Amino acid sequence: MAERTIVCGFCGKSFQVAEDAGKAFCVHCGAETQIGEKTLQEKLDEILDPQKRYNTLQDQLEKTPDDPKVALLAEVFELRYFHRKKNTFDGFLRLWFDMVTYARKRDKAKELLNIQNEIKDFMADEKLVAFRSKSEEAEKLFWHEMKNAIELYYISSKDDRQYTSSFFNLFRMKGDAVTVKAAKDVVTTGVALLSLCEQTDDVVKLGDISREAFLKAYPNGMAAYNQALNEWKGCEEGKNAIANGIVEPLPETKQDAE
Ligand SMILES: [Zn+2]
Repeated sequence: MAERTIVCGFCGKSFQVAEDAGKAFCVHCGAETQIGEKTLQEKLDEILDPQKRYNTLQDQLEKTPDDPKVALLAEVFELRYFHRKKNTFDGFLRLWFDMVTYARKRDKAKELLNIQNEIKDFMADEKLVAFRSKSEEAEKLFWHEMKNAIELYYISSKDDRQYTSSFFNLFRMKGDAVTVKAAKDVVTTGVALLSLCEQTDDVVKLGDISREAFLKAYPNGMAAYNQALNEWKGCEEGKNAIANGIVEPLPETKQDAE
């Protein structure tokens, strides 16, 4: 059953309800929330194409230039998307894509250093730092957009033959095999690669949201994720990460804790 995320109008926390629900009670504070049309953010989150996503927000910005939420989104969009000639690219997705690429070469010191520096430079970008430090809302929105970029990557890995699917040789693989392959990829990147990086708050958070993004794209992927994670924990690199306190020791999350 399709679900959507609702933000409680009373306590501000978010929770999931069925797509077709008319009203819901907040699971955090119990307040009743009327569920109307999808929010702008929800509509935007369903758009895969960067140009279309960017344009949709620009249209909204023209209609409601004084809406602070739209203005904040416009700011984060300026950080996320960059334009070259007639094309719009996703800078957040590019970071993740590079992480995936470098994660496979992480046993080479120089390659590992390259991606560590790329992550550092990305996070140290002056405009991004200024945006994130503006408000709690802005910080949340940054991570929302970062997670959305990773989500798009995993959604496109399911069925886009031109892009990640060819990169990952996902052609002609059937449902479960694709999930297993994608689970291995997210563990390789969001856990294994990051376990070799300096454990800053941003690095830890990147790992967390990559798992959430994968599960959003593959709602039934928890078992495959845990299997890939536990396999990695059994290898030399995983054992080191456990010894250094970076990841929890085996056996772990058989089921999602929540
Ligand atoms: Zn509430």
